Order: sequence, then structure tokens, then C-alpha cells
Amino acid sequence: MENNFVFMFDQSESGMKELLGGKGANLAEMTRIGLPVPYGFTITTAACNAYYDAEKVISPEVESQVLQSLQVLEEKTDKKLGNPTNPLLVSVRSGAVHSMPGMMDTVLNLGMNDETVKGMAELTNNARFAYDSYRRFIQMFGNVVLDIENYFFEQQLEEIREEKGYQSDTELTAEDWKEVIEAFKSIVLKNTKRSFPQDPKEQLFLTIQAVFDSWNNKRAILYRRLHQIPGHLGTAVNIQSMVFGNMGEDSGTGVAFTRNPSTGESKLYGEYLINAQGEDVVAGIRTPQPIATLKDEMPDVYQQLVNTCQLLEDHYKDMQDIEFTVERGKLFILQTRTGKRTAQAAIRIAVEMVKEKIMDQREALLRVDPDQLNQLLHHRIDPEYKREKLAAGLPASPGAATGQVVFDADEADKLSKEGKKVILVRPETTPDDIHGIVAAQATVTSRGGMTSHAAVVARGMGKACICGCDSLKIHLDSKQFAVGDTTVNQGEIITIDGSTGEIFLGEIPMIEPELSDEFQLLLRWADEERKIGVRANADNPTDAAKALEFGAGGIGLCRTEHMFMDASRIPTVQSMILSETTTERKESLDQLLPMQQQDFEQIFETMQGHPITIRLLDPPLHEFMPDKEELLVDVTKLQITSPDSNELQEKQTLLRKVRLLEESNPMLGLRGCRLGMIHPEIYEMQILAIFQAMSNVMKKGITVKPEIMIPLVSHVNELKEMRELVIRISQHVQTETGLAFDYLIGTMIETPRAALTADQIAEEADFFSFGTNDLTQTTFGFSRDDAEGKFLQHYVDSDVLKRNPFVSLDQDGVGKLVENGVKLGKATNPALKTGICGEHGGEKESIQFCFDLGLEYVSCSPFRVPSARLAAAQSTIRSERKKSRKEPQYS
Ligand code: PEP
Ligand code: MG
Repeated sequence: MENNFVFMFDQSESGMKELLGGKGANLAEMTRIGLPVPYGFTITTAACNAYYDAEKVISPEVESQVLQSLQVLEEKTDKKLGNPTNPLLVSVRSGAVHSMPGMMDTVLNLGMNDETVKGMAELTNNARFAYDSYRRFIQMFGNVVLDIENYFFEQQLEEIREEKGYQSDTELTAEDWKEVIEAFKSIVLKNTKRSFPQDPKEQLFLTIQAVFDSWNNKRAILYRRLHQIPGHLGTAVNIQSMVFGNMGEDSGTGVAFTRNPSTGESKLYGEYLINAQGEDVVAGIRTPQPIATLKDEMPDVYQQLVNTCQLLEDHYKDMQDIEFTVERGKLFILQTRTGKRTAQAAIRIAVEMVKEKIMDQREALLRVDPDQLNQLLHHRIDPEYKREKLAAGLPASPGAATGQVVFDADEADKLSKEGKKVILVRPETTPDDIHGIVAAQATVTSRGGMTSHAAVVARGMGKACICGCDSLKIHLDSKQFAVGDTTVNQGEIITIDGSTGEIFLGEIPMIEPELSDEFQLLLRWADEERKIGVRANADNPTDAAKALEFGAGGIGLCRTEHMFMDASRIPTVQSMILSETTTERKESLDQLLPMQQQDFEQIFETMQGHPITIRLLDPPLHEFMPDKEELLVDVTKLQITSPDSNELQEKQTLLRKVRLLEESNPMLGLRGCRLGMIHPEIYEMQILAIFQAMSNVMKKGITVKPEIMIPLVSHVNELKEMRELVIRISQHVQTETGLAFDYLIGTMIETPRAALTADQIAEEADFFSFGTNDLTQTTFGFSRDDAEGKFLQHYVDSDVLKRNPFVSLDQDGVGKLVENGVKLGKATNPALKTGICGEHGGEKESIQFCFDLGLEYVSCSPFRVPSARLAAAQSTIRSERKKSRKEPQYS
């Protein structure tokens, strides 16, 4: 049977998004529900993949189906492609399964040539319009299909405008446009060595091919990487009969959101341009009018738009982003898609849609992306700090940022790679600037509205953005902008507030974020649903308090070495490490004991009875030591300047000891529980500090639930010995204080051997916490310190690995060890508690994986706790839905 590679809008069924792409599926759906959609057809993603499989050739099968569908379109519209008296014109647009706004190519007005333009002029009785449309087509086709730089066309237009003394394009007459067209055709001839193609079918197939090719352009690949969209999906192509927003003052084009994508407010939001075509709004070249004014300019169209928006939102049960065109007073809907929104808007929309009974709580929880929540946990400008603003534009994407001004995306990228914070300032951005927007802290444009490219892209990334700030006079040549008398040069610092649209000179203090009421409510719903605990990694009272504030159920990892790193403690820690006898070491440890004990007391008091997993010292000792290279330089200098000094002697001794501690593979060396095995006095001090702190806090009537964790165990005998040490010291303190302690002893599972012998290890452990940072390192054999910079990014870029395994758990490899570890551990110790405390504990896909394996909790940094709570709820809901789909349904 012949494959169906092309579907008319009214021929497909719902549930075909994979084939039709998001745009195609929605156009078909809108056609089915009777909305005024210009008719057309969709070439499927399968055709795109077949094109790539055939080394970029459109097969005869696809070609003939396109031609058949074109005939149907011609019959339905009663027009014909290329017919000089009654020409059909079409738009050709990309449309992938996942929306990738502005990343791929579009061509409008296809079908125009030297003959059809005359027919158009006659038919519309508007020669100016017809010739303007033709020149637009040559320009777009020239740029997208023939790969000619837009600059050549713009330059040419500018020259003709100047020659005629015009200020703007609206002054050009039909005769002027004819002149422009001839000039544009010469540009095509000069750049491609052939004339502009006059055959509309040739135009059509060349454009389809260009849209397929645009799936693999640089910016689309970067966008996919940023949003983890697989590269093999391909794009569909939508061919739709044209409607024109540039037919005069009763025509226009615009974008509408059914709710505000920045704040979530339930009010029609958007903008439009009168007498303009398709991409003018999104391209940000002219600053459009807010949608509310359409109510006065075209009341009937406005009302029809309001009704359509309502209908679409009810139908899709989500906020929609709609493109519309008004042709001589008649409304057409060109596209609808789920609107991209800020985290703040996502939460408000989800919560309000529950209140409006559009969806239930569980559905609302699934509508917010946990990754987006981090946007809300960032700093904002201190409102108490009064500073005069330099300028203000449209508040396109909320958040505050400080950085040095740059005017070029490549420069932004370069400086950010050097670790500098930059703010990208441009007249407008195009999809080619995306790497600059990614690299910058924030983006500011002087032109364009709330739906311009910069606004949409920045919002999607959760980056602050200000658009349409027209008081900014940007001079790209001299790399500066001016506002009134003030000039700001590249490299100067500015601060921007994307929530208010304000720009300030210099750096401005920021304040800590707070969780809005809606945010709190959504998280409470998440807690009602989730069946996996969320703890935080915290090792000081401030982080512990933050963890509780953000809703953590306890501390899943307290890294005690972080308590050693305080500047005031380093000398004592260093003398402890450099001790040459145990007695000497014990002296330093005696000094450290009260400090550690005090830290624990503060954390225990802060956590008020919540469980706290305390990990004994883990890193290689030389991490606390002075830098060897620096010592060497000092010694060499002193040997020349003061060869007999005490200082030289001291430095030489230090250097000798540092060399003694040095290891070739410190990550595989004397660290983790091996420290406790070789120098038990270090762990003894830490354990004593924990239990003495516990007794002091218990005496104040506060419950303390410590879980003492032994790191980097690879053999059960290590844990056995360390466990005996913990029990011995706890019994000693209990006898001394007369208190009874309730505590657990467990281990991290961070080496493949530990996971493989988890049944033996579990016999000595009350709990396992999977340290997936080290487990990833030891399973792959990739250094967690060096791999990213040396080769891992290349692996991810070239699809050797789908994701960076230090960010998202490698479920096939490391995940198998975790699964095995849980199964074996619970087999010999059914009461064993399990959790994860590697970085993966805060990542949504890894959380789903941990939930599916039956882990009791995940633990992550305090700022990731809210998003982990949401991801945990989503894991529970998704798994339950999957299970109920599998179970037989009885009526
Ligand atoms: C781990 O290895 O996953 C872990 C949590 O420990 P650390 O990152 O401190 O080595
Ligand atoms: Mg570790």
C-alpha cells in the first residue's frame, strides 16, 4: 500500500501530531471545529525523514502526493497556482512535533511571478499591494531557498528609498516596487548565476526542500539541544492558501495569547499591526499596537477574536498562542499552539484553571515544568533601593540581571565563556542571535513588542528580557547606546529588571526570592500527591533553614568536610592532616571537636526533629592543603633571598608533607571511609561531636534524628568496622549522659562493587543513599572533575550520549546498578531505607526513575527542593496513570 505522506487539513484525524507536527495537527483540528482557517495541506515528518534517508531527495511518491493535494486545494479555493488571471498563492511553513519558534524557515506569497503579479494587481484592484507582495516573495525566497544574505535586499531597498527621498516603505508606489523587483531579480542573478525561478511548481518544491533542510540549520540544532528535542523527529511542512494582512487599512495581522504569558493574568493579550504581513509582528521590525486597541479600530473583528480565543482555550484546555490575519475586515486564524509562558504565568494559569474547573489538581500539577520553577527562586531588585532609571521598555520576561553591555551575540557568547556576565543589547534579535541570548544574563532590544523574537525566546529560557525600549539609540558601529545625553559603551555595567522593563546604570542590590501564594498552593497540592520524600543537601544552619522553608522533609546529605573549610578552621585542619603521629593528630582533633559539635547543635536545633543524614569526612585530605606549585615557588624564592631563614625551613617541611600526601589518582585514593579505616581518630572525633551535640539538644527538649552515613564503601568489611566505631562511641555518650539515642547507621552506595554486593552491605546498614555523582564517575570511568571540559560536551553534541550523565542519571548503566543495589539490599534487609543524594536527586527525569525504583526519598540542594517536590508529584501521577492504563477496565 502507498504511504500517505500528505494530508489535507480536513482529511486527518486527531492524535496524528507525530506525523503532522504541532502546527499541522492544530490547523487540521481548527479546520474540523469550524474555525476560519485558510485551507491547505501538511506534508508529514515521515516525508522529511524519507528525504534525509534518500540523501536529501524528495521521492517521486511524495512529489506526486503533493501535486494531487495541490489540485484539491486549487479546486477548493477556485484558484490555480501560476494562473495569471486567478492565481493561487500559498505560504510554506515548517512545523515540528515540538514547537521551535522561529528556528526553521517559512516562505510567504509563493506562486508569484512576472505574470501572476499582474493578475493579482487586477484582481485586487491594488497594484501597489501586488508588486509589494511580489518583492517580499523574491526577498524571502532569495534568502531562505537561495541562501542569499538578506542584507543585499535591504541595502538595495534602502538605496531606492534614499534616491526617491522617502522616509518609509509605505511611500513607495507600484511603479517604485516594480523598480525594486527588477533590482531584486538582478541580485538573485548575480548571486546564484541563474534567473529568479518563474515556474511556481519549481518554486514550491525548492521551498519544501529548503524547509526540510532548515530542520538541520545551526540555530535549530542549538534549540533542540537546549530543549532536549531528539534530532531524528524531522519537521512537517504546511502549505496553506495565503490571506493578506497588507491589503489596506481594513487589514492587519497579529498574535494573541488567551492569557498573559508573562504574568498569567486571565485576559486576552497580544498585539497587531495594521496593513502588515505575516512575519512583521514576530520579526519585531515595527513596534505593534496592544490588542486592546483593536476593540476600537475593528470592533467586530475584535469580538470574533475574543470568541475564537475562548473556544480554542476550552478546546485545548490550555493557554493558546494564536496567529491571526484580517483580510479586508475578515478574520482568519493561521495558527494556534500551546503558549510558551514564564514560570510565574505557568503557575498562575494552572492554579486558576483548577479554580475555573477547566482541569483538576493532578492535571494542573502536570502542566508546570519543574525546570522552570528555578526562575522564581532567583534574585530580584531590592525595592527599597532607590535609583533613578535610565530608560524603560516593555517588561518582556521577568527577572533581574546585572552585566556588562555587549552588542553582538558572538561577543556575548565569547565573554560568557570567559566567565563574564553580560547583557545583550540589540535593535532587535533574529533567530541567528539565539546563542547570544543563551550566553547573556538578559537581553534588551530597542524595537519589537512582547511577542518579538527576543521576548519569546527569552521567556522560554526563563531569562530576563526588555523589548521595544525605543529611547535607546543603539549605534552598533561604535558599540554604544545613548539615552538622551547619557552614552553607555560596550563593557559598561547595567542592571535591568525584566518584570518592570526598567534599565539602570551600574550594579543594583538584589534581594532573596519569596514563594508566591499560588506557588505555595501548587506545592501543597504536589505534597498531597507525591509518594516519594524530598530532602535537601545542607551543611550549615542557613542552608538547613532554607531547606525547611522550601519544604524539605529533612537533610539527605550533610557534607561534614564543608564545615572544615571555614577560613578560621583551616590552620587547625591543616595541622591535623600534617601530624606525623596519632598523638599529634589527636591534639588538633581535640581543637576541632567543639567547633564541629557547635555546628551540629545549630543544625539539629534548626531541623527540629526532621531526619538529618550526616556523612563523615569524605574528600582526599590534600584538598585542605596549600597549593604545591605555590609552595614550590615560595621555597625557590626564599632559597635565593633568605637561605637561612626559619620561614624557608617551615615551607620546606610543609612542601615535604604535601608531597607525601600527594596521590596520582586522588579520587580513587585515600578518601571516603578509607580515611576512617586508616585514621579512625578523625571519625571518632566527628562521631563524638554528633552524639555530644545530640545530647545537648535533646536536653532542651528537641527531638534529634541523626543518620550517620559512611562514604565510599566498596566492601562490607569497611562498613562493619565503621559501624562498630559509631556504636562504641554512641554507647559511651549514652552511658555518660544517661540518655537513650535513636539514630541510624548507613552507607553511601557510590562504587559499582558496593551496588553489586549490596546484599552483603545491607546486613550492616540501616539505609543506603546512592551517591550518584561518584557512582557515575566510577561506573563510566569518567572523571567528574575533568570530563565535561575535555570530552563529555563533544559526546553530547555528537549524540554519543543523549544527556550529560552527571546531570541526568544514566538509566541504562548507572541506573541498573541503583536498581540492583535496591533489590539486593532489600532482599537481605527488608527494613532498609533508600534514597539518592547525588546531583541527580534534583533532576526531574532522574526523580521519576528513583520513584519507579521505589526509593524513599531524593535529596538535592535547597534551591532545587520546590522543583523536586513538583517533579516527585508528577512522577507519582504519571506512574499511577500508566498503571491504570495497563490494568483491565471493567464497565
Ligand atoms: C555523590 O558522590 O553522589 C555524593 C553525593 O557525594 P559527593 O558529591 O560529596 O562526592
Ligand atoms: Mg561521593
